[in-house]
Amino acid sequence: MMIEIDNLVKSFGKTKALDGISLRIGDSEIYGFVGANGAGKTTTMRIISGLIPADSGKVIINGLDSVKNIKQIKSKIGYVPDYFGVYDNLRVTEYMEFFAAAYDLTGREVEKRCLRLLDELGLGDKPDFFVDDLSRGQKQRLGLARALVHNPDILVLDEPTSGMDPKGRIETRDILRRLNEEGKTIIISSHILHEISELVTGLAVIEKGKIVMSGSIESIETKMHIENPIIMKV
Ligand code: ATP
Repeated sequence: MMIEIDNLVKSFGKTKALDGISLRIGDSEIYGFVGANGAGKTTTMRIISGLIPADSGKVIINGLDSVKNIKQIKSKIGYVPDYFGVYDNLRVTEYMEFFAAAYDLTGREVEKRCLRLLDELGLGDKPDFFVDDLSRGQKQRLGLARALVHNPDILVLDEPTSGMDPKGRIETRDILRRLNEEGKTIIISSHILHEISELVTGLAVIEKGKIVMSGSIESIETKMHIENPIIMKV
């Protein structure tokens, strides 16, 4: 088992964001988190990625406790947040090199790798654009390029297709499939089940900081049709 998540609890002040999240994500899976606003998806993903600590509970990745081995874990994970904001005034290449430097990756080879990743993600003609001038879909792809800069084994993507048009969604899905075929384990979140249902190998439905359903996409879809037909239609 590549990722073992055991009873994560996290509060922000009086808000209990996670109330005992446990699950297993296998090697080379594409695993989905589905839930409404505020369900706890981002908090779970940020804890898995080692960006914030849990109050209690553990994440074990390839047998390593993520808190005790934080440096190793961060080198294995690429995290794509659902916002951009403060980096908007950088040019695309500067943005890539900034994040490469955060992994101590600098020099000519790294510059070439950044350009290759931009190319692979359909941004090969945009190296001198300001991040702010990219479309939403292009920004999402830049976020993905940035998360791949240190060639991580695991990609964690927070709502990578939200607000995208159908073409952008299909393109993103194809890119993620390709990365998965290359051996990367992928964790992806969405508000909407059908946005990721064709892509994922397993899924957890999160509500108020708890997993209310998990399993294969077929088993979840069957349960949702019976228990919550409204979510299916959103
Ligand atoms: P969304 O789909 O809207 O992004 P989500 O499922 O990702 O939602 P989280 O962002 O994990 O949900 O939030 C879970 C709960 O924790 C929410 O009530 C949120 O307001 C709260 N929360 C998350 N981060 C913080 C923070 N840094 N400070 C205070 N409260 C927070």
